[in-house]
Amino acid sequence: MNVQSFFIETFGCQMNLHDSEKIAGLLAQRGMVEVGSAEEADLFLLNTCSVREKAAQKVYSRLGEVKKRKGAHPDFLIGVVGCVAQQEGEDVVKKAPFVDLVVGTHMVHALPDLLDEIQESHRPGPRVSTRFLPGPSPVEFPEVARQSSFRANITIMEGCNKHCSFCIVPHTRGKERNRPGHLILEEIRRSVNQGYVEVLLLGQTVNSYRDPDNPRFRFAELLEQAARIPGVQRLRFTSPHPREFQENTLAVMAEMNNICNQVHLPLQSGSTAVLKRMLRQHSREEYLELVDRFRNCGRDMALSTDIIVGFPGETSQDFEQTLSLVEEVQFESMFSFKYSPRPFTQAHSWEDDVPEQEKTQRLMALQSLQREIQLKIHGEKYLGQNFEVLVEGMARDKVQRFGRTTSNKIVNYPGNESPGTFIGVDITKVGPNSLNGQRVERFQHSCP
Ligand code: SF4
Repeated sequence: MNVQSFFIETFGCQMNLHDSEKIAGLLAQRGMVEVGSAEEADLFLLNTCSVREKAAQKVYSRLGEVKKRKGAHPDFLIGVVGCVAQQEGEDVVKKAPFVDLVVGTHMVHALPDLLDEIQESHRPGPRVSTRFLPGPSPVEFPEVARQSSFRANITIMEGCNKHCSFCIVPHTRGKERNRPGHLILEEIRRSVNQGYVEVLLLGQTVNSYRDPDNPRFRFAELLEQAARIPGVQRLRFTSPHPREFQENTLAVMAEMNNICNQVHLPLQSGSTAVLKRMLRQHSREEYLELVDRFRNCGRDMALSTDIIVGFPGETSQDFEQTLSLVEEVQFESMFSFKYSPRPFTQAHSWEDDVPEQEKTQRLMALQSLQREIQLKIHGEKYLGQNFEVLVEGMARDKVQRFGRTTSNKIVNYPGNESPGTFIGVDITKVGPNSLNGQRVERFQHSCP
């Protein structure tokens, strides 16, 4: 058996996407070549998400499809990595006995060794590696095969010490582990030297970051030092926890114009009673106070959020509170979901008592309100204005290009610039989900 090429399919969040970049870097170091599809690969890896039930279900149907290649290519290897691998462990091979590798979230660095083992030994059977590693920091990945030519995703911490009652992440990613600050800053400098213009700092609760070697070097300090690195033209971070924003983080964001004027504040529900059951560690009032702090921080911050509808016990009055909060805050974008019970969470044992049809209606009402808000904001704040846009690639219509403002708005425009180019765009037309415009020579920095 000679495993020379690989293909990674990724479902899920930015952290998962970045894990795939780390895995691709590892396998490239092992001398393997990344190919464009499972059909061309010696090794197929499914890097999976288990946050929503639907995503977890997709895993087995996708594995069933890929299995067909084993008929003609008996040496073809199939692996499951990431959150579903961590969650299901040995069960993956019970449900899909043709899977050769199951590698959890702490063990992806071991993939090359596991492949060597499979290649060199004739011991049949799958390799399952899902233990959690001790220690304050995650394993370092010296080579990362970045998918983007202009944005460097950089992990600063992994795992989560919160225990939101709906969330499987503490189970699949383990406790918080932070990278030493000097290694993060070194990676940022390296990526800037390689030509990356945007840096995205990643962590499950990114703003609870603490340097394991120096507990006084926290998120605000890291953010400031990262923003001061020459060549970092845009700096973003995701995903923060509302509870963890310290005053000095807002001060740094207000001062440093290359930190993007966009912040994601996951809300989950506008009802304090529901938030309590969700164990979110903030009330409706505390959340609104945080929004006020951002509104008054000295820069125009575009706020985005996550909301779950139909959490156990959510009454129509609770849901009305979510709608009224959304109306009050005027988020610039939102991810919204129907609640689905996840294994290994506290809420899993509670009665999932909001009927499916009611959940659907609530989701539709929320999304329709949010569309109206976005359309209004786009008309009032963006239409007729000029923005700096960082080009990302071909637009959905396959004719135009698209890029993003610092406030994370997608802008489509006719042009042919390469990804990573900064251009000026006059916004001439707006829809609820994106903006359209014309490239212009003059452009002002959209950060105030
Ligand atoms: S803060 Fe809550 S929702 Fe976010 S990852 Fe941790 S447990 Fe999950």
